[in-house]
Amino acid sequence: MVIKDLIAKEILEQNSYAAPVYTKNIRVRLDANENPFSLQEPLKKKLLEQISKVNFNRYPEAGSPGLREGFAGYFGVDRDMVMPGNGSDELIQLLCLAFKGKINGVLVPDPAFVMYKIIAVNTGNKVMEVPLDDNFDLDTDAMLGKIGINYPAIVFLSYPNSPTGNLFSREKIEAIIKKTPGVVVVDEAYAAFSGDTLVPLLKKYDNLIILKTLSKLGMASMRLGFLIGNKDIITQLDKVRLPYNINSLSQVAANFFLDYSTEFANQVNEVVKRREELYLALKEINGINPYPSRANFIYFSCFFDSDRIYQNLTAEGIFVKNLNKPPRMANCMRVTVGNLEENASFIKALKSVISELGA
Ligand SMILES: *Cc1c(COP(=O)(O)O)cnc(C)c1O
Repeated sequence: MVIKDLIAKEILEQNSYAAPVYTKNIRVRLDANENPFSLQEPLKKKLLEQISKVNFNRYPEAGSPGLREGFAGYFGVDRDMVMPGNGSDELIQLLCLAFKGKINGVLVPDPAFVMYKIIAVNTGNKVMEVPLDDNFDLDTDAMLGKIGINYPAIVFLSYPNSPTGNLFSREKIEAIIKKTPGVVVVDEAYAAFSGDTLVPLLKKYDNLIILKTLSKLGMASMRLGFLIGNKDIITQLDKVRLPYNINSLSQVAANFFLDYSTEFANQVNEVVKRREELYLALKEINGINPYPSRANFIYFSCFFDSDRIYQNLTAEGIFVKNLNKPPRMANCMRVTVGNLEENASFIKALKSVISELGA
């Protein structure tokens, strides 16, 4: 058997997705856009009590009807418009599987969340990329042009965008929703930090789908994402979904999140405050150019070699994301907004690394 004769060329050609491998000296983890606050002890105890009631010998509730109901209330939509997933990554995969074949592939802006492209390719979809304009907003003319010629089945957009942190303009998104023959997936992984959402547009457009996740809100370990969209789409996606995609522990954690949603919302507010401080601190450093952010991370370009900055920060146990990719993202990095101490350690280390490089 020759493995490479059996595996699709697109998969063979790919590098594996580089999920971070942390070195032993890790002190500050600002590379994955997680919530910096871990669950407080009294709350953790309550969650563990609820988990102790799980029947470990039984399958989880199939299709998670309880979560559909609870999160429909949380998002302010009808019960049959919500579908939970094993992280929103799973929902992206389901969309790519279900919408494959009839028309023509997946359209994404560039730069965008890298998983759209990886998942689309792995599920056998063609991928089309359209660069963002100079303000990191959508280039509507170019996107509508591609849509008119290629008829993509899915357009993926993040609101706010990752890794740039900005919100695309609504008019541009609506123009794309109106023009596309397929579905437009608006990924709101970071919307809580922006104070904005396109959920109300679901009433207006039946080809709009919105993704949410608890991963950036304090529950990354539990892998919980939600798709919100018209019920006819969800009926079809439910056929593609694996029967028990949300395990019993994650179901308990999701309900717990709803019960304590105010505590989680308070943490979001605190992160937003820290974001503004971190932005100002970065702006004060010579040779660092941060972009305003509506998410829980900040995108910045460096006058210096960001590979060196990354290596030196890592050596100090401080992890950020190095996005260095010429021409557009040459020497660009992304830092997650952490708590007070984490942000201070990061800024201190960054200053000292830069003064070494500049010297
Ligand atoms: C983190 C992230 C996701 C993945 O979320 P999971 O629910 O953890 O799978 C999806 N979209 C964007 C834009 C993200 O940044």
